[in-house]
Amino acid sequence: MESDIDVVGDLGFGRSFTDHMAVARYNAATGWTDVEVVPFAELAISPAAMVFHYGQAIFEGLKAFRQPDGAVALFRPADNAARFNRSAARLAMPELAVETFTAACAELVLADRRSVPSAPGHSLYLRPIMIATEASLGVRPAAEYLFAVMASPVGTYFASGVRAITVWTTNEFVRAAPGGTGAAKCAGNYAASLAGKEQARAHGCDEALWLDAEHRRWIEELSGMNVVLVAEVEGRPALVTPPIGATILDGITRRSLLELAPHLGYHTVERPVAIDELCRTGAFLEAFACGTAAAVAPIGAVRSAGGDTVIGDGSPGAVTTQLRDALVAIQEGRSEDGFGWRVQVAEAAPDD
Ligand SMILES: *Cc1c(COP(=O)(O)O)cnc(C)c1O
Repeated sequence: MESDIDVVGDLGFGRSFTDHMAVARYNAATGWTDVEVVPFAELAISPAAMVFHYGQAIFEGLKAFRQPDGAVALFRPADNAARFNRSAARLAMPELAVETFTAACAELVLADRRSVPSAPGHSLYLRPIMIATEASLGVRPAAEYLFAVMASPVGTYFASGVRAITVWTTNEFVRAAPGGTGAAKCAGNYAASLAGKEQARAHGCDEALWLDAEHRRWIEELSGMNVVLVAEVEGRPALVTPPIGATILDGITRRSLLELAPHLGYHTVERPVAIDELCRTGAFLEAFACGTAAAVAPIGAVRSAGGDTVIGDGSPGAVTTQLRDALVAIQEGRSEDGFGWRVQVAEAAPDD
């Protein structure tokens, strides 16, 4: 079944791809080839490719936004490139120059610029990957890799209007453990989270909210989105979010909202939050999840075997909505980008 979050209405999330893809190959002896933009096509890979056996697979997710004048801009691509390299290091994979990563994204967008949607809330989602392609069953880091970037036009995450999601929390599974791969954007983390997400669905929830592996007490994040709470601090709303560590992925949306918040008059506090505190009625005014795909997804309730806790009045909160609108306005070029987050990759062209 499709997600209850009516993921992206008319287009569907990541089901149709543009005409091209960007590709580079790595060999331990010769390093990376140049990036080539080629027609989008299936890959020929040996069944013995190490990715299928030992899971060396990392990815990224970033978006290109149509600007009001028709130009196209990527949002913070160098941050994705840097994170890609941190993920690569953790999985004993080769790094890729930040400029190579961003140039691959830019060249792909340029090649398929007509596929960048211009409707509000729509964008071109870019999915860079790196996988181990060496054909060998030896257990060691592969000597050959494929880097590829594909692009998918996406609509707004909430096709029928932004609504609050319900998250499920359980002690049964963990997503990430200290010393593990939780801070890397690797395919295996997602594989490990799916059973929890299925359990969440079975309990009528949209997503799993993961707790720390050691104490099963501290809230960490969702499977692919960070979690931020709104509390009253010194008489004003403040953003409260768990600090990034070895078990929480360093989300660029999270980081952007924390940087944006002070400009809207909100304090930010990075501190551990216990599940008991989250489930204490009135402890938090609002809660939301954030990530590239959804931007900001309000959280209306937390469900566990013990029952439900409604956050605020259970609907999208005012601070949550304001932050979402402010972030998307910068991404879509409708408000000034004082942070230097937008990177224009295609100029306005009359034939788009
Ligand atoms: C990708 C991801 C996020 C969100 O990161 P963004 O850079 O904001 O898209 C959060 N948590 C996990 C586990 C992720 O994989």
